[in-house]
Amino acid sequence: MPRITFLGAAGTVTGSKYLVEANAKHLLLDCGLFQGGDELTQRNWQKLPQEPATIDFVVLTHAHLDHTGYLPRLVSGGFRGPVFANATTQELCGLLLPDSAHLMEEDAEHATQHGYSSHMPALPLYTQDQVVDTLKRFAPMPRLGECRLSPEFLIRSHDAGHILGSSSLELVITGNGKDTTVLFSGDVGRYDQPLLKDPEKPPRADFVLCESTYGDRDHPTVPPPDVALAEVINRVVHRGGVIVIPAFAVDRTQLLIYDIRRLEGSKRIPALPIYVDSPMAIDVTDLYRRHREDLKLSAEELLADPFSVHAVHVMRSPEQSKQINSVHTPAIIISASGMATGGRVLHHLEQRLPDARNCVLLAGFQAEGTRGRALEEGAKSIQIHGEMVPVRAEVVNLRQFSAHAGRSELLRWLAGIPAPPRQLFLVHGEPVAAKALQAAVQSQLHWPVTLPNYLQSFDLA
Ligand SMILES: [Zn+2]
Repeated sequence: MPRITFLGAAGTVTGSKYLVEANAKHLLLDCGLFQGGDELTQRNWQKLPQEPATIDFVVLTHAHLDHTGYLPRLVSGGFRGPVFANATTQELCGLLLPDSAHLMEEDAEHATQHGYSSHMPALPLYTQDQVVDTLKRFAPMPRLGECRLSPEFLIRSHDAGHILGSSSLELVITGNGKDTTVLFSGDVGRYDQPLLKDPEKPPRADFVLCESTYGDRDHPTVPPPDVALAEVINRVVHRGGVIVIPAFAVDRTQLLIYDIRRLEGSKRIPALPIYVDSPMAIDVTDLYRRHREDLKLSAEELLADPFSVHAVHVMRSPEQSKQINSVHTPAIIISASGMATGGRVLHHLEQRLPDARNCVLLAGFQAEGTRGRALEEGAKSIQIHGEMVPVRAEVVNLRQFSAHAGRSELLRWLAGIPAPPRQLFLVHGEPVAAKALQAAVQSQLHWPVTLPNYLQSFDLA
């Protein structure tokens, strides 16, 4: 009898990892990192309940680290199978995973130097060398359609509309001459967005796992994203401040540049210098230029390079990054990471937060326990590199820019499934959000809904 075990993203948003067992074969669907507070991140250091060497395959829905960032740990722990992912996801992982290891190494070094780690010397969760070994394990999977992994496992991919290359995956498990299908939503994107296509209508399945990040709320539609963005920019420019945007390198940065470009073009904001201070975001933007199959831009728009603004400065080296500190006239700094958990954006926050003229613009989900969440909730000071930094700058969260479906969009995606599943599992959400979506599904669709616990297993019978 096939079985599923929730090794992550159960009762929380990060650490997506679902272990499916059939015919004594083990498939791991996503291999994400836990992010957020200490209690969660400690799980990244704990022994996986399933020996990595006994896992046969990994399949990825998309490249975000909370779905892929544990891979180097899995490989260094003994996993020797293939990691199936489409070409775009593979390329993105080739950028995100080395960067993740680099940040971990840097943070560990910094913690050792400044003595704020409980381990001496502080260790990174994994190294760049381990990432090199991990990337060798990648195996190709088509962007859409079928891929047979083994006699018992077949995967069908559907566009999830969340980031470039993102998929919902339909897993067909064959055993005892009978098929069982499990649909993994992956992260569901938005409908009617300027850059990416809408999430594809999902197929029928016996069991469905659906994310519930925003199961308790919709994203504001008023004012529309471009209007809201123009308002903030004009307000901060008027008082002579600088806008720091901690942005996810994948998709948020591209969408922001695209929107700023349109606002500039229509003279709704002044032409400002924009510093894209994330080597990875720059590389990802190039990838967006090349992998156009997921984009819904017109041929005309694509030809005009939608990701270039008139005064965009891309900062590749740390020295160039530091030069931004000397900018004291209105400007926009876009830098990763999106929840301010690490990366160059920390230096910019350290520099800009104490000045009330400045603004920190949050452009996406901020998980519990992150600095982004603390800022969102109005913290008067936050800790950066072991020091308390006062927060005097304005903090704005433009939820309109979320890459995740809001509550109604999740319900729209679920309602597109042609027949009720035998069981819906709600994952990838904090308990309040998952419970709210559970209540909505039960009352609107009358499906059986379960909120699985961390490490809980279910028979897929
Ligand atoms: Zn994602």
